[in-house]
Amino acid sequence: MRTVRGMVGRRSGGSLTDLRRANRHEALTTLRLNGPLTQAEISRATGLSHASVSNIVRELTSQGLARTSEVHRNGRKVAEVSLEPSTGLVGGIDFGNRHIRAAVADFTHTVRGEAYVTLAYGHEAAVSVSEAARVFRELLANAGAHISDVQVLAVGVPGPTNRDSGRTLSSAILPGWAGFNVTAAFEEALGVRTTVDNDANLGALAEGLWGVGRGFSDFAYVKVSTGIGAGLVLNGQLYRGVAGSAGEIGHTTIEEDGPLCRCGNRGCLEVFAASPALLELLRRSYPDDFTVTDLLRLSEEGDVGCRRVLTDAGRHIGVALANLCNLLSPQLIIVGGELAGAGEVLLSAIRESIARRTMALPAHAPKITTGAFSERAGVLGALALALQEGDSVAPYGARDQLVSTDRASAHQISLAG
Ligand SMILES: [Zn+2]
Repeated sequence: MRTVRGMVGRRSGGSLTDLRRANRHEALTTLRLNGPLTQAEISRATGLSHASVSNIVRELTSQGLARTSEVHRNGRKVAEVSLEPSTGLVGGIDFGNRHIRAAVADFTHTVRGEAYVTLAYGHEAAVSVSEAARVFRELLANAGAHISDVQVLAVGVPGPTNRDSGRTLSSAILPGWAGFNVTAAFEEALGVRTTVDNDANLGALAEGLWGVGRGFSDFAYVKVSTGIGAGLVLNGQLYRGVAGSAGEIGHTTIEEDGPLCRCGNRGCLEVFAASPALLELLRRSYPDDFTVTDLLRLSEEGDVGCRRVLTDAGRHIGVALANLCNLLSPQLIIVGGELAGAGEVLLSAIRESIARRTMALPAHAPKITTGAFSERAGVLGALALALQEGDSVAPYGARDQLVSTDRASAHQISLAG
């Protein structure tokens, strides 16, 4: 709540009109960042009095900017205030090695449309951007919206990015994308203000706002797929580091003299536990076209070789996560990405490996769980980033005051729409 208190202090010197305008702005921002809230929650999140919130809500409603509706939460009827869907849309696009996932949401945090298309492996950046722009326009048309309704578009890529320049920093995952200016390309293609981040950070944002990270101030989201990366939420804020490359846990050293990694170092976590490494291990015993889907299915059916490969990967991931736990002491670790589909086979190995190597007392040991959104985490995180982009109020800081109310299920219902 430091940010909110700071704003209260700054605006105290202005006129009454300035004060009203600032309060109104703060209520609008809080609703945009958090989605529907009760008046009491708006009051707690903003520090505004119940009477002020009540006046602001009445004013916003009469101006057609907000609405109040009765909903059920944990079996109780409550009146929720939300922004009108017409107040604005945001867009999210998530690039993978072989896919584009795109979505449009409004300021009530309702997904209005979502699309998935496959891409050829090794797709060129410019070609992929024009394909994504086409998909996004189609999505808007299907939702009965226009590109000019979209305030911000956030784009996720599977690798480190510089958010200031809008460029990707590494060619390691998407070969045709080295140094590509993602934001400039989308701003030119769609004419919408665009921001970019890596997929693990976006996964952390999605889980923190709507998923299993909701209510946690310190957690890590670890995406285990073709690469391995982490999004770190510390003190309620996504931590990106100086260059935007924080959380590259896939390139922490597991074995000093281990196999060469695509990053140029030896023995990185990725060479032991990312999906290409696992498929390579299985190559001798299984068909040439063996995929991660096959691996997960056979593991589910009890195949000993597949389970062994996943368990070994879990142990290696656990080594890297134990180091992370000893450094940062998170409350929660969320495992996402395609290999999270292995469920307990992977998770129990991770837990065991972490428990053996961490200093935390059992009472403070982090909870290790899979995420709520599976393969949608990236695109939903892009929507979350777009919702918070361009505003100085920290969403997690505001949300800390709302921890006592569990509304994750309500959000998931609206997100499924
Ligand atoms: Zn590496």
